[in-house]
Amino acid sequence: MRATVMFGAGDVRIENVPDAHLIEPTDAVITVTRACICGSDLWPYKTMEHTDSGRVMGHEAIGIVEAVGADVRTIKAGDLVVMPFAYSDGNCIFCHEGLQTSCIHGGFFGTSELAGAQAEAVRIPQADGTLFVLPVGKDDALMPSLLTLSDVMGTGHHAAVAAKVAPGETVAVVGDGAVGLCGVIAARRLGAEQIIMLGRHADRIALAREFGATDVVSERGAEAVERVRELTGGFGVHSVLECVGLDESMLTAISIARPGGAVGRVGVPQHELMPASQPAFYNNVTVSGGPAPVRAYIEELLPDVLEGRIEPGRVFDRVIGLEEVPEGYRAMNDREAIKVMVQP
Ligand SMILES: [Zn+2]
Repeated sequence: MRATVMFGAGDVRIENVPDAHLIEPTDAVITVTRACICGSDLWPYKTMEHTDSGRVMGHEAIGIVEAVGADVRTIKAGDLVVMPFAYSDGNCIFCHEGLQTSCIHGGFFGTSELAGAQAEAVRIPQADGTLFVLPVGKDDALMPSLLTLSDVMGTGHHAAVAAKVAPGETVAVVGDGAVGLCGVIAARRLGAEQIIMLGRHADRIALAREFGATDVVSERGAEAVERVRELTGGFGVHSVLECVGLDESMLTAISIARPGGAVGRVGVPQHELMPASQPAFYNNVTVSGGPAPVRAYIEELLPDVLEGRIEPGRVFDRVIGLEEVPEGYRAMNDREAIKVMVQP
């Protein structure tokens, strides 16, 4: 089958690889009908050391179940399913607590351990716990928004939950990528009154405003902090969604939280140490977040997608075929596209 293989920084190719197939009795194999490129795929695209074997990329997909192993009970061939970016058994103590990204038998797609979904098909470990059957046809008009339940909408929601967004309160979103934009949707959905988007790209800012951002701050660093304070009576916001993962963005995030506020971080941290320890301490700022248990959020978010109350699929501004995926990486990396959808 054809699949997206990254061999090193800037080196993404569409290759023939062995067909996805069942290995464990708890596996399923799905034919991918929609996949996409993630902002987090751009980190290895910038920095990955060359390997001869490469890594099959992609951790977001919707597909049709082709085969299931002997121990799979709830998922059957022919089901249209959405795949969270992490697999999980649905049964362990962490799955029961709604933290499927820490599943004792879990793991992540598109890693050196497990092939990813920017491909014609993908093997799904722990199929019963991982997959979620969608109540629509495979070409439903809502497909882009449903695809965001794999990652970006659930991740934006997780940032909002970790940042303790509450009705009537003030929120800032650091990062105007697809996750940040979904964070705006999530903050509004949870009742935030003022939503300040920190971002600089005109197309993204326009979409953020349509999603519910009330203010935009395009300055960076200390100037951005000052602007947010001006917009919030001098104190900063109750909740900050950190959707980038760089030291500078985390420093900004902690600096614009008001005393007693919270930062929900979902940007994959690119450094070992967390900046702004002292302001976080002296202002009693909670810093929370991590890989979003998007599997836990699908049930909550799905009705709002199906009934059109939220439209996270609008973050996709380009649709390509599988053979064009290398160009899709380039376009996202060069900020020509917000988020690229793939139809294998
Ligand atoms: Zn589990």
